[in-house]
Amino acid sequence: MPSDVDIAVIGAGAAGLAAARALQAAPVSVLVLEARGRIGGRARTVTIEDQALDLGCGWLHSADANLFSDQAQALGFAIDKTPPHWTRPAANADFTAPAQAAFAQALDALEARIEAAAAAGLDQPVSALMTPGEPWNPLLDAFSSFYNGAEFDQISTRDYAAYQDSGVNWRLPRGYGALVAAFGAAAPVALDRPVTRIDHSGPRLRLETPQGALSAAAAIVTVPTPHLADGDLGFRPDLPDLREAAAALPLGLADKLFLRTDAPQAFAVESHLFGDPMRTATGSYHLRPFGRPLIEVYFGGRHARALEQEGLGASAAFAIEELANLLGSPIRAQLAPVAGSAWGADPWARGAYSHARPGGAWARAVLARPIENRIFLAGEAVSPNAFSTAHGAAATGVRAAHLALEALGLARGGGHG
Ligand SMILES: Cc1cc2nc3c(=O)[nH]c(=O)nc-3n(C[C@H](O)[C@H](O)[C@H](O)COP(=O)(O)OP(=O)(O)OC[C@H]3O[C@@H](n4cnc5c(N)ncnc54)[C@H](O)[C@@H]3O)c2cc1C
Repeated sequence: MPSDVDIAVIGAGAAGLAAARALQAAPVSVLVLEARGRIGGRARTVTIEDQALDLGCGWLHSADANLFSDQAQALGFAIDKTPPHWTRPAANADFTAPAQAAFAQALDALEARIEAAAAAGLDQPVSALMTPGEPWNPLLDAFSSFYNGAEFDQISTRDYAAYQDSGVNWRLPRGYGALVAAFGAAAPVALDRPVTRIDHSGPRLRLETPQGALSAAAAIVTVPTPHLADGDLGFRPDLPDLREAAAALPLGLADKLFLRTDAPQAFAVESHLFGDPMRTATGSYHLRPFGRPLIEVYFGGRHARALEQEGLGASAAFAIEELANLLGSPIRAQLAPVAGSAWGADPWARGAYSHARPGGAWARAVLARPIENRIFLAGEAVSPNAFSTAHGAAATGVRAAHLALEALGLARGGGHG
C-alpha cells in the first residue's frame, strides 16, 4: 500500500468501483481500500454446481438506462430479457385471479395515496396511509419487506415516492455480481484494508487502517450507512450531521435462499409463488430461473431478520414447509438448500439496501453534499432516486469522482465507457 495518493476510495462495491473506473482516465493517483478479501460488496455471484447464483443484486433494474447494461455488452456478458416473474400472475392455487387483481388494486391505491402525500410535502410512515382492516394489508407489508427490506411502518412516504424505475428489468445468466467484479477487475484495489477513521483535521486527509495510514488529498466514501451512523468508520473531528443523515437511512434486510430440485418438471419455468398470500412473514418463490433446476427464495424485513438468527437450515426448513403446503408433501424429498445469504450478519454490509425512516427523506441529499470540498459520499443510499440498486450506486460513484477531480482543479475527466 502506498503512503500517499491523490484520491482514496473507501469500499469496492458498485459505487467505489465506478468511481475508480471514472478516475482511471484522469491524471491522478487513486487507491481503493476495501475491507473484504473480494471486490463487489453487495453484488456477489457464487458458482455452485456450475450455476452462477446471485446472493445480492440480480436484476438490471431500469435496464434501458443502466450503466451495467452497457458494461455487460462491453464485457461479453449475455443479457436475458425475459420479463420478470413478478410481472406475471402468481401460480398459487390458493390465490385466485380475482384475488390477485384485488391485491394489485390495493397496491395501486396505496401507491396513489403515497404519491399524493409526498406531493403535499408529507413525510410520514406509509403504514399511516393503509386502510385499517384491509384484508390485503399483510401481503402489502410482505411486498414492502421484499421491495424495501422493511415493512411499511418503517418506510417514509416521500422517500418511497422519490424512487424512479423505467420498468425494464433484465438479468445476467453469468451473474450481476460477476459483472460488477469484471467491471472493477482493473481498478487499483487494496483488499483486506478496513478504514477505521478519516482524520480531516490537517491539510491532507489521513485514512487510518489496522495496517497503517494513507494520506490523501480527497476521499470518496462508499461504505453502507450503518457504518457511518455507528461510527465504525469514524471522522476526526466528528461529523454529527453526516451520522444523523446516515441514521435516517438504515439498511432494510432481504435475503436469498436457493433450493435445488430433483424434480424440475414439477415446477413451471420462470413462474412464481407467494408462500402464503395472507401473511407478512412469508417467502417469495421464483421457480426455475433461467430454466434451471432451482428455486430462488426471497425473504424480507422482520421475517428475514428472524430467519437469519436461526440460520440457513431454518430458512430452508421454512421455505420447504411453505412449498409443501402449496404443492403437496412429496415435494419435501425433492428439495435441498444449495446456498443462501445473511446480509444482516455480514459485518461489511449489515443489511441489504437503504430506505428512509419516516421523516427522514431529507437525508439522501445531505449525504450527497461534499464535505470541505474533499470528502465525497457515494453508494446506493446517496442516490436521490435509484437508491437500493447497483446502477444507482454506480452513478453516485461516477458523480463523486467528477466532484473530486473538480475539487483538485482537474478538468472533468474519465468516464467508464
Ligand atoms: C438480497 C439483495 C438483492 C438485491 N437485488 C438487487 C437487484 O436485483 N438489482 C439491483 O440493482 N440492486 C439489488 N440489490 C442492491 C445492490 O446490491 C446494492 O444497492 C449495491 O450493490 C450497493 O453498492 P454500494 O457500492 O453502494 O455498496 P456495497 O456494495 O455495500 O459496497 C461498499 C463496500 O464497502 C466496503 N466497506 C465497508 N466498510 C468498510 C470500511 N470501513 N473500510 C473499507 N471498506 C469498507 C464493503 O465491504 C463493500 O465492499 C440487492 C441487494 C441485496 C442484498
